[in-house]
Amino acid sequence: MGCAAETPARRIIVAGAGYAGTTCGIRLARGVRPEDSLDILIVEPNPCQQALSELDLVAVGPNRPEFCELWHPTLYRGLPVTVCYNRVADVLPDSNEIVVEGGERVGYWRLVLATGAVASTPPIPGLVEHASTMWSVEDARRLQRRSQAVLTAAARMADRTERRRTMSYTVVGGGATGVEIVGTLAQMLPKRVRDAGLDPSDLNVHLVEGRDDILFDLPERERARAVRRLERMGVEVITGAFVSRVEDGVVVLADGRRVDSTVLVWAGGAKADPHASEWGLETSANGRVVVDESLRCVSHPNVYAIGDVAEARNPATGAPLMMLAQMAIQEGPAAADNILREARGEAVRPFKPHFRGEFVSVGPTWGVGWMYGVPLTGIPAITMKRITYVKYWLQVGGLRLAAKRTREMLALAR
Ligand SMILES: Cc1cc2nc3c(=O)[nH]c(=O)nc-3n(C[C@H](O)[C@H](O)[C@H](O)COP(=O)(O)OP(=O)(O)OC[C@H]3O[C@@H](n4cnc5c(N)ncnc54)[C@H](O)[C@@H]3O)c2cc1C
Repeated sequence: MGCAAETPARRIIVAGAGYAGTTCGIRLARGVRPEDSLDILIVEPNPCQQALSELDLVAVGPNRPEFCELWHPTLYRGLPVTVCYNRVADVLPDSNEIVVEGGERVGYWRLVLATGAVASTPPIPGLVEHASTMWSVEDARRLQRRSQAVLTAAARMADRTERRRTMSYTVVGGGATGVEIVGTLAQMLPKRVRDAGLDPSDLNVHLVEGRDDILFDLPERERARAVRRLERMGVEVITGAFVSRVEDGVVVLADGRRVDSTVLVWAGGAKADPHASEWGLETSANGRVVVDESLRCVSHPNVYAIGDVAEARNPATGAPLMMLAQMAIQEGPAAADNILREARGEAVRPFKPHFRGEFVSVGPTWGVGWMYGVPLTGIPAITMKRITYVKYWLQVGGLRLAAKRTREMLALAR
């Protein structure tokens, strides 16, 4: 069966159903009227939205076959939306068409590009061979399997020095993603270690960051508190140290230090979906699709780009917006509203982002961050972080779905 049936209506294609594409698709579906003569098609390979911001819990928690933020069939039930479970292989912006994998061409009246980002790994010798990245549920499950294999191997070792070297975990990257992963490892691994009959005091967990501090986006007091919390949980925090190469089980730093790292996670950065720069749309030096203040591509105004793949700018500062879910879920509805305005012959409006807070977990039950300029630490910060998830689930799925996901989230942190 093809991806999309012929229709006399004007077709809107949303490519990618992560945070940006889902919020856009839902807003379009709820806002469209029969007289608009619009057809909404979402093209996304996965039947569920991956829960990126909970990957740390998936990686360290008990084994589970699937972990999903939201199932698309549940989300779109009863709404005037078709979901095509396929991947956009090409965009032909000059003829207003996409090509899906398998070769089918589908024409559009408006395209919303929301294909996200991927982990970016620099050419450090040995890095790709030895490190896991953390950008999908599959990445998290790979890390979980690797960790379990390491603990099983350690349980067979009689020599304590060898066991300690084997039970070594390193996360490289002291931004929010790296800190969340290392915090969860430090808090939850001891239980996994005891379950394997091992002694948690043999665990070695390191965080390596090239800059002089971690969590550079946060106020200095919050950064210091995060470091103290990590150290209390037994993490060795190594800052001002760039990784020069990776060998089997060891990370070698630029100053020659060697850090035992049987399990290595690279959380050193992300880049926009690399395919987006091959599709004839104007992209910035870092590969993000350049959009105007109403989120339309500067080179092709029939194409909107939102979320991590797009380079939208903060109108107040002129700086590119950060690759964050909280930006993606504001851009999605804003793009949808502009498309509906265009469909009704009205003028599009500029997107006005708001950035009222930021929260980073340091282990599943504690966090740092700020809200409305006020620093938050500990349980208030982690509570606010979890509330932002619940708000998202309410926004796209309503009360019942939010209640279900909240129960799952609380169960994960145990
Ligand atoms: C481990 C981790 C933790 C994070 N924690 C936070 C946090 O606490 N707070 C926060 O604000 N942000 C967080 N982020 C960042 C946040 O997840 C991203 O900014 C957000 O996912 C961006 O949304 P998006 O819709 O642009 O992309 P995504 O959510 O990545 O969605 C992109 C979608 O496009 C689909 N896709 C890709 N290529 C194609 C194609 N060719 N055709 C069709 N579909 C395609 C993918 O399958 C995916 O569903 C975290 C990220 C990671 C990796």
